[in-house]
Amino acid sequence: MMKKVTVNKKGAVYTIDLTKIEGDGAFPCPKCGVIISPDDESDEVYEIVDTIVEGTELAELVLQCKKCGSTIRLVGFLQQGEI
Ligand SMILES: [Zn+2]
Repeated sequence: MMKKVTVNKKGAVYTIDLTKIEGDGAFPCPKCGVIISPDDESDEVYEIVDTIVEGTELAELVLQCKKCGSTIRLVGFLQQGEI
């Protein structure tokens, strides 16, 4: 059996690299396809479960999709602004 994603007790963990997302930073959930937008602060689609900071910079955001329960790690914050 091939493992393509890391699995924890709650379910799959997916990693999204923000540097590879075009537009306003919204992306579809890798599992269920619901659109997750960083600007959506309603907590209806996803919730932020962890925030990882390196120094004073946001390094990683860990979200949980409320539709399918997947854990999604958002990485790539530190590379932004160097275009
Ligand atoms: Zn989902």
